[in-house]
Amino acid sequence: MDEVPPVPEVAPPGVNINVPHSARIYDYWLGGKDNFAVDRAVGEAMIKAIPGMRHMAGENRKFVHRAVRDLVQKEGIDQFLDIGTGIPTRPNLHEIAQKIVPTARVVYVDNDPIVLVHARALMISTDEGRSEYISADIRAPESILNDKVLRDTLDFDEPVGLTLIAILMLIADDEDPWSKVAALRDAMPSGSLLAITHPTADFAPDEVHEAVAAAREAGMTLVARPRADVERFFGDWELLEPGLVPVSSWRPDEPSDNPEAAYYWAGVARKP
Ligand code: SAH
Repeated sequence: MDEVPPVPEVAPPGVNINVPHSARIYDYWLGGKDNFAVDRAVGEAMIKAIPGMRHMAGENRKFVHRAVRDLVQKEGIDQFLDIGTGIPTRPNLHEIAQKIVPTARVVYVDNDPIVLVHARALMISTDEGRSEYISADIRAPESILNDKVLRDTLDFDEPVGLTLIAILMLIADDEDPWSKVAALRDAMPSGSLLAITHPTADFAPDEVHEAVAAAREAGMTLVARPRADVERFFGDWELLEPGLVPVSSWRPDEPSDNPEAAYYWAGVARKP
């Protein structure tokens, strides 16, 4: 049989396929197709370090489902600011929210051009609600907060659901992610809710340190943080039950045998 030559990889404008990128590695773990050889290589090196990596990514997504559902159903939130959106994966946040409240509005923010391309094509809102996309960087919170699309879409007189899901580990300590998150918190009206997931070495230090080393070797910034460092992202906001817990233990639909098998801290807090 003739050997089929490999299909050359073609990237959209602005996308560098020689440097691995978090959104594409995460897409690879979730079984998506929007990743390149360089991303798969790092993704595999990290799976070698953490065999449960795909399970972790799946548990992180399941948290998004449960947290958004509860924010809408139990807390009455109908507008979200989601920073570090990632390559679309169904259901996306607006689909989860709009299934419950069709008028829900979501502003997505990411700084990866490939996410932008897909989000524009795939993040289609209900007719009654809205789903918008801003290309911006969490390290410049004002650029997000002052964006006209954000101001036109969300009503800052009403509580907002701010979701920072698996993004803060990509910001190094010396860029002070705590001050960036504080700026976002300060801009939110009272009653707003902040949901965070963050990878940690607290449950399995050797595996996680090895995975972080593989990512750094490939030139990525990746910081696993201890619980106390993650808790600081919530400032003086009040953590909802059950607090800052392993991601699989946050209001699980079914109790998990081993909640610490997904090495993320997760929590949701309310602005007083
Ligand atoms: N929140 C999604 C995707 C997480 S992957 C989920 O948990 O399912 C992390 C995402 O953060 C990627 O899409 C990446 O492009 C984005 N990201 C990384 N650094 C960023 C930054 N400085 N500003 C905005 N987005 C960023």
